[in-house]
Amino acid sequence: MFDLFNKIDKCIVCRHEYTSMHVEASPGISIHVCEACIEAARYNFIWICLNCGKVYMRPKALMMAKVNNPTLKKAYELCEHKQIILGIDICIKCNPRGILNCMNTDSMVC
Ligand SMILES: [Zn+2]
Ligand SMILES: [Zn+2]
Repeated sequence: MFDLFNKIDKCIVCRHEYTSMHVEASPGISIHVCEACIEAARYNFIWICLNCGKVYMRPKALMMAKVNNPTLKKAYELCEHKQIILGIDICIKCNPRGILNCMNTDSMVC
């Protein structure tokens, strides 16, 4: 999932560190993420809106405890031990009236 990129750019999650590390947030879309933020992805689900660039981070344990939908719960369990930074097409901020996406949107407070 992670490999070296020859270009150095600002980490899209913390917008602070410059890094050459990047992840594929969506097929064909690479984003720069620094080591600390990749480490944070171990304990948090991280979503990045590919439309506005807003980053959402939620502790995995909290999300797991909250979710009632069995399909969603299964999906969370599958990535519990993975470091996932997921690109989403649109977020709550881009579309406040809410296209539902893969997230449990009622826990998404900006
Ligand atoms: Zn970072
Ligand atoms: Zn957005």
